[in-house]
Order: sequence, then C-alpha cells, then structure tokens
Amino acid sequence: DVEVGLSGHGSTFSSSTSTTFSYSPPWLSPIEYLHDGSYKWRINQLLGLKAMVLENEEELMKAYVKDLGKPKGDWFLEKNGILADINHTLSCLHKLMQPETRHTPLWMQPGSTKIIREPLGTVLIIGPYNYPLNLIVCPLAAAVSAGCNAVVKPSEQMPETANFFAKYLPIYLDCHSCGVVLGGIPETTTLLKIKFDKIFFTGSDRVAKIIEKTVAGTLTPMCLELGGKSPVIVCDDANLTVASKRIVQTKYLNCGATCIAPDYIMCTSAVHDKLVSNLQSCITSFYSDDAQKSENYARVLNKDHLERLEGYLNDAKNKGANIFGGEIDMNDRYMAPTILTNVTPDMDIMKEEIFGPILPVMKVNGFEDALGHVKKGEKPLASYCFTSSSKHTDTFLSNISSGASCVNDCAVHVLSPDVPFGGVGNAGMGSYHGREGFICFSHEKAVYVNDTYTDGIRWIRYPPFSGFKEGF
Ligand code: NAD
Repeated sequence: DVEVGLSGHGSTFSSSTSTTFSYSPPWLSPIEYLHDGSYKWRINQLLGLKAMVLENEEELMKAYVKDLGKPKGDWFLEKNGILADINHTLSCLHKLMQPETRHTPLWMQPGSTKIIREPLGTVLIIGPYNYPLNLIVCPLAAAVSAGCNAVVKPSEQMPETANFFAKYLPIYLDCHSCGVVLGGIPETTTLLKIKFDKIFFTGSDRVAKIIEKTVAGTLTPMCLELGGKSPVIVCDDANLTVASKRIVQTKYLNCGATCIAPDYIMCTSAVHDKLVSNLQSCITSFYSDDAQKSENYARVLNKDHLERLEGYLNDAKNKGANIFGGEIDMNDRYMAPTILTNVTPDMDIMKEEIFGPILPVMKVNGFEDALGHVKKGEKPLASYCFTSSSKHTDTFLSNISSGASCVNDCAVHVLSPDVPFGGVGNAGMGSYHGREGFICFSHEKAVYVNDTYTDGIRWIRYPPFSGFKEGF
C-alpha cells in the first residue's frame, strides 16, 4: 500500500493497485468543488504565489540551499525568474481572458465567430530536482491563470523545498483548488491512477516515457518539458572573449544541471586553441583557482550522478580526450568545472545529455559540418551560435530545429516571459510562460453565435436540395 499525504487537507488516503482511493479531496473533483474561475480569483492566486515566495524568502532560500548546496546567486536567479513570469502574467491576464474575435465568412454573417478559452479542469504538475522552485511555481502560475485546479508533485530529491510547498501553498492559494503531494516513484504512480485533465511533466525523457505508458489509454493530454543535448556552434568570426564568458556562465550554473545549458561546443581548428584558453581563463575568473572553495559554485545532486559523470570522463580519456579540471570529491558532491578537448562523436559523453559540469569541445571542419552534426541527432531543447555574420545567423536559425535558439548568447531566452518555453521532438511537446502558459492549460473553444431574425434569407441551407438549390 502507498500512503499519499495531501497537504492542506489534514488527511491522508491509501491506495493499493487493487483498490480505489477512499478519500477524494475537493480539488480532485472540479464537479464537487468549483471556484468561480473569475479574473479576481485568478489574480488572487497569482498574488498569493508571489507573496508565498517573497514573505518566506529566508526560509525558502535556506531550504533551497540545503537541498542543493547551491550558491545564493542561483537562488536569486530562480526567484527573479519566477517573479518576472508572474508579473508578466498579471499584466496580460485580463486581455488573455477576453474572447478573441475571428473572421466570419460572409454567408455566416451577421452571426459572428470567436474563441473562448476555458480552463481545462484539474491538472497535475510534476517537477524535477534541478530548479525545484521555478519548475513548480511557473507551471502552477500558468495553471491558475487559466483558471485550473492543480495538484503539484515536487521532486523527492529536494525534500526541504518540497516540504516548503506542502506547508505554504495551501495557505497562500485557494486550498480547495491547489494541493501538494509529496513523494517519489510509488506516490507518483499512485497519483497517476487519477484521471487528470492534463499532466504537465518536467524531467527526463526516460521518466516521461514511463508516465506516458502509465496513463496510456486514458486520453490524458500532456505537456512534456524534457532535456537533450543543446549544442553551441562557435564560428570563426565570433567574438571569442564574449562567447567564452557567456558559455562558461551558463554551462557551470547550477553545476551544469540546467536543461538548456550548453551541452557541448563545436568549432574549427582556426579558433579552437584560443577559445579553450579563454574558457579556462573564464572558469578561473568566475570560480577562482579552486572552485570547491568558491561561493559561486554549486554541487552535483548525489553520488550516483557524480559516478555517471566520472564514467563519461573515464570513457573519454580512454578514447583519447584531454581533460582540463575533472577533480572529484565524492564526500562533498564536488566536480570541478571541466573542459574536454580532442572529443569525438563516438564518446559516451557525446551520446547522452551531460547535465553536469563537463564541457566537451569538438573540432569540426566548418560551419556546415557543425550544422550537419546537429541535424544528425535528436532535435535539441536549445541551440546556440556565436557569430558576427548575419548570413551565419540566418543559416543557423533556418537550418536547426530546436525548442529555442540564441545567437551570441546561451540560455537567456528563458528569462523573457513573453516567448514560449518548450521543446520539440525528443526535447518535449507543448510550451508555457506568459500567453503560451495560459493557452497550455486552456481549451480554445470555437464559438459561433447566430441570430434567428435573418433565417428567411438562409433558406438555401435547408433540404430538400432540389430544383434551384441543386446549382449551389
Ligand atoms: P526525473 O525525470 O528523474 O524526475 C522528474 C520527476 O519525475 C520527479 O518528480 C520524480 O519524482 C518523478 N519520477 C521519477 N521516476 C518516476 C517514475 N518511474 N514514475 C513516476 N514518476 C517518476 O528528472 P530529474 O532528474 O529530476 O531532472 C533532470 C531532467 O529534467 C533532465 O533530463 C533535464 O533536462 C530535465 N529538465 C527539463 C526542463 C525543461 O524545462 N525542459 C527543466 C529542468 C529539467
């Protein structure tokens, strides 16, 4: 039997594979409990989310740092990302909630057509470990902005942050509409027995496939926010100084555990040595000679992840790669910011998402060669190109299909709340943030409103279709 604690409702319920839930809390059934879905209700939920973060900042920051051993700088990034997203939604919510008039063909006039966006219902949001706050709060903000009830399941790898949600979400949000379920695989598996109106999952493609299988046959729509290998092409005409700073900053942020982190670099021999030397200087300048002592450098999640990363290094070394950095302290969950050169596509590290502080630099024969390499693999969650040429920019943007792209930067697109965030192909399906977040949790209902007064001139639509009508 699996016990699932329902925070905020003062009760627990049990389930085994053969029994159904003995207790159905209100938020699991929008029929039993229906908030009015008004603009006011939605605004209150968004303001509640904001207040939850701001009023308990100290406690939240402590939980966050304790869970991940993260530097405080990372916390501010998470917090500001959330606030930017919520503020943007607050500013455009009224407009988003208005019906949208669409073109009505002449023969259907004076009736009119429009789109009404209605809440999908009760949704499930499952979060990953790496940005435990942002990747629960931002989808939740999108869900409540669309007028949905939501159940959130934070990552069990971040117990302190998950407990924070369990403690505060039911206080700051309408506790009948938003619930928190804590736990890992068994609890999530139990939760998935409930038919939700949408599942919003952020995590690995491996687990996404398991969840798809678990809910197969229920026709539950899903938004999948997954990962992948996000390439960086550094062209010969790139500003190498700026490129190195931006790549190092976004790669080693959160110790490499960022879904849109630059995964690997491709460049030609013409700039390779200069680029690698610049990257090394940036590492030293950002994190000092000993990153383990730096206040700005995070830690790897756990021993399993460290061993996985160590495995990449050993495999690459055996196949002829050179390693800069690579120091590991298992007890401290530490891996130094690491660069690999002399990298070839057959190395394990070039086959899987790295999700750690190792940056492979692979030599290519030119820009076209780099594009060809990306196109051979799965579509990435993000793709990056550093160049000063508009021709390269256009070719890059029109040739590489990815969830998002940046030119002369990495990962920063996520901070603009007015563009969709999501993947394509193996990197996921569906998107959110701002308008797209609202739409993600809405059904866009097509509506036609006709009159009855002009029925006399509509005689042609009614049978029998004989005589004069046959010509139409
Ligand atoms: P994960 O897939 O291991 O776990 C994600 C969630 O799924 C957790 O809440 C976990 O409890 C749950 N889960 C795990 N196994 C399960 C199972 N068998 N059945 C049901 N639920 C299960 O992901 P993670 O390690 O926490 O996060 C890292 C991954 O997430 C990376 O691949 C990264 O690229 C991806 N990610 C994507 C985004 C994005 O926005 N696209 C953001 C962050 C992370």
